[in-house]
Amino acid sequence: MVNDVITLPQLLQMEALYFANGQQAHVGEMKITNLILDTCDWPALHKDVARYVNSCLVCQSSKPSRERMKFPLRPLQSGAPIELVQIDNLKLAKTESWCPSDH
Ligand SMILES: [Zn+2]
Repeated sequence: MVNDVITLPQLLQMEALYFANGQQAHVGEMKITNLILDTCDWPALHKDVARYVNSCLVCQSSKPSRERMKFPLRPLQSGAPIELVQIDNLKLAKTESWCPSDH
C-alpha cells in the first residue's frame, strides 16, 4: 500500500516543522524528517528540517556532546614500597587446558 503524500504549500511548511519537532520531542533531524514524510513533502524539506533543528534551542541543548570527557592527569605518589600496585589489563588468549593452580 502506498501512502498518499501531499506537497505542502509554503504557507504551511513552517507549521509542519513546528508540529513535527514538538511531536517528536526534539529528537533530531532524521526522525522529524521521517514524521513529515509520512504525510507530506516539499522540494526543500530536508534543508528546511536541518535549518529548523539547528535553530531550535531545545534540540541544540538536548543534543549529546561529542566531546569526550577529559580528566586531568595527576602524578601518583606513594610513601612506601608496595603502597601502590599497578595492574595492566590484558586480553588473554583462550586455551584448551586451563589450570587455576600455579605450578
Ligand atoms: Zn527542537
